[in-house]
Amino acid sequence: MLVDFHAHIDLYKSPKAVIQNCNKANIYVLAVTTTPKAWVGTNNLIAKSSRIKAALGFHPELAKERLKDLELFEQFLPAARYIGEVGIDGRFDAEHIKIQINLFRYIIEKVNKAGGRVMSIHSRQAATPTLDLLQKSNGLHVLHWFSGTKLELERAINMGCWFSVGPQMFSSKRSRDLVASMPKDKILTETDGPLVQNGKNIIEPVDVASIFPELANIWGSNRKDVEAIIADNFLNLLRFAS
Ligand code: MN
Repeated sequence: MLVDFHAHIDLYKSPKAVIQNCNKANIYVLAVTTTPKAWVGTNNLIAKSSRIKAALGFHPELAKERLKDLELFEQFLPAARYIGEVGIDGRFDAEHIKIQINLFRYIIEKVNKAGGRVMSIHSRQAATPTLDLLQKSNGLHVLHWFSGTKLELERAINMGCWFSVGPQMFSSKRSRDLVASMPKDKILTETDGPLVQNGKNIIEPVDVASIFPELANIWGSNRKDVEAIIADNFLNLLRFAS
């Protein structure tokens, strides 16, 4: 069983072809979105794919220019079982980050009021402020492509966070060390496609299979056992989502 817990299906050049490949491979996909409007479009795209679910998102990089879409986020929230991609990105100026933090805080308040959700979280160069806000959130948090420090990782683990790891997280020793420290029962696989390359090609959800040997290597285990662990984790997470 394959799981891609963070893919931008709507951003592919031909989303329908990618969805067809997903359906053929029976892969479970969380189709994250970058704006509330994209959530509507993504739901239309995946309407006939029972293994693909759309997450209602508001990407931090778009926090400033799309702030007017905040009403839509609130409007769609009751129907959304998953939230993402949301969070904070530290690669911006102070004013932009302030807007991101206010947006993320607002989203967390609304999600709390709605009873909590499974959330796919962006925390690039901003793990500490992201965790500061998540401390007030009662959802289930999956930190996507986590790249903070060892200490920040420890804090996230103590807070009960989950982690979705992609192929690119095995390309540096620093990142591999982080993955090795993540709790085995709280790891999912992801691609972040189409924003990531797989060799010469743009990565697709089915490429999560390439993560199994990497995790097997780190855990001193084999590919089959890794696949079973990821499947178990995913089923545990679904219990929270339903
Ligand atoms: Mn992403």
